Amino acid sequence: MAVDSILSSPLGPPACEKDAKALQFIEEMTRNADSVQENVLAQILTRNAQTEYLQRYNLNGATDRDTFKSKIPMVTYEDLQPLIQRIANGDRSPILSAHPVSEFLTSSGTSAGERKLMPTIKEELDRRQLLYSLLMPVMNLYVKGLDKGKGLYFLFIKSETKTPGGLPARPVLTSYYKSDHFKTRPYDPYNVYTSPNEAILCPDSFQSMYTQMLCGLYERKQVLRVGAVFASGLLRAIRFLQLNWQQLTEDIRTGSLNPKVTDPSIRECMTRVVRPDPELADFITKECSKDNWERIITRIWPNTKYLDVIVTGAMAQYIPTLDYYSGGLPKACTMYASSECYFGLNLNPMCKPSEVSYTIMPNMAYFEFLPHEPNSTGSTRDSPPRLVDLADVEIGKEYELVITTYAGLYRYRVGDILRVTGFHNSAPQFQFVRRKNVLLSIDSDKTDEAELQAAVENASRLLREFNTSVVEYTSYADTKTIPGHYVIYWELLGKDSGNSPSDQVLEQCCLAMEESLNSVYRQCRVADNSIGPLEIRVVRNGTFEELMDYAISRGASINQYKVPRCVSFTPIMELLDSRVVSSHFSPSLPQWTPERRR
Ligand code: AMP
Repeated sequence: MAVDSILSSPLGPPACEKDAKALQFIEEMTRNADSVQENVLAQILTRNAQTEYLQRYNLNGATDRDTFKSKIPMVTYEDLQPLIQRIANGDRSPILSAHPVSEFLTSSGTSAGERKLMPTIKEELDRRQLLYSLLMPVMNLYVKGLDKGKGLYFLFIKSETKTPGGLPARPVLTSYYKSDHFKTRPYDPYNVYTSPNEAILCPDSFQSMYTQMLCGLYERKQVLRVGAVFASGLLRAIRFLQLNWQQLTEDIRTGSLNPKVTDPSIRECMTRVVRPDPELADFITKECSKDNWERIITRIWPNTKYLDVIVTGAMAQYIPTLDYYSGGLPKACTMYASSECYFGLNLNPMCKPSEVSYTIMPNMAYFEFLPHEPNSTGSTRDSPPRLVDLADVEIGKEYELVITTYAGLYRYRVGDILRVTGFHNSAPQFQFVRRKNVLLSIDSDKTDEAELQAAVENASRLLREFNTSVVEYTSYADTKTIPGHYVIYWELLGKDSGNSPSDQVLEQCCLAMEESLNSVYRQCRVADNSIGPLEIRVVRNGTFEELMDYAISRGASINQYKVPRCVSFTPIMELLDSRVVSSHFSPSLPQWTPERRR
């Protein structure tokens, strides 16, 4: 079998025939990256030739790259939004895709404060499934014996709505877990989960998490890997255990299921799991009642070989906490994906987080790369940007990812900045550098500078009657606690010392900021409980001038100095924190309801 190059590692042969086929597929796709890309583009353009969108640009049936690049513009979500809204409102004509739109995926990226809606088509599920099917064959090259136990994965669905045209609008993972691809997946000894489908598919996050944790505890010795999609999700599970271990051990001791779990299908399936096991209950009580939770993951699940969580991008902030709870277990970042398109996988999943590179699979979509120059918008009227093809990117350079998908996005800017680190065959490998314009992120929320500015303005209105204004501010994503929370440092100027805002007013300012943050932030706060109350730390007058002095002492230009709107550098944090005069937390939850689609 000519599956050599990922497999030229000293890792031994594929674990089974099915794996060999998957690895062979990776080899074929990556060896022929450029021709696969050419075919993908031709297929997309052929099938969608009669769509309103492509007709608009007079491709006249051309399916080649040159014509495509010369006639079709690069776009952002905002450019497409009027068309997407028509589809959402029920227009079934072929607007972007010739295939019928089957549902909308709600991205964690927002536009005007609301989740972006991505129209998708049925067959995209097959493409996502295909990428998932490649993950374990690669992992099996690096970790042996994964067929001898199970994976404890904390997986959740989220609430969904319907568009006015009647199609579901929901996150991509909710769509996937609810699909037959997931629910009726064939048995695969390398991919057995401790969580029953009934628990994963329960819309109530407490009941879902409780049941998944209970199953994980019962099967503690069988668990070989522990995971969630993102690092923040796994830490939330640990926090859940901290808060609920007494009830969980009570269930294990008595062999009953907590009455708070009311979902009938969970109760039904758990009759096959729950049994009295006082010895296990004693063990878990002993471990969880210790003050020190260091290495709790390996203490409770002693056979865990690795954590399966994404710790690249914004999630890198959680690495120290994960290391603390797991005693430094390897953290496998297996794939890189979005609502718009699943992009690729990590062919060396046991590498260090700082070395993670994702290989974009050329069959998933047509990929182009906009050379990334900091501070440039990428294009001007006079010189349209030159996009580079997948096979032509250069090692060491940074690019913004631009995709053309089967579902009908054409030259769409995803907003991710990637750096080329190498090639696997002729397919480039990318380090995820960052998402453009994201200042703060705790979970799936992404807050940009404009949103933060608007939130500060909104909140500072409450200070007017006290003749007080916010003269400077900056922010920090505090992930020392679980869940993490936003910290906003405020320097205030009061013109009337006898009438300064009370603690209560400043608490209301916290809430006012939360109210004006985007719907993903508010959903994380309200429905997922994955972000804690926003905190305002008032710093004493002159602090931001000291911050500037510090930056200048480190070489910043006095003329060009701008207050950083987000900070994370330790000496700066220390400076700010040493100047705090009072701190205030949001006293209640902001408004959030599943979005109504006009
Ligand atoms: P969403 O559309 O809500 O699914 O979010 C997709 C975005 O999440 C991507 O465009 C990336 O910015 C981020 N993302 C997804 N996978 C990874 C990963 N493996 N590492 C870092 N960021 C990721």
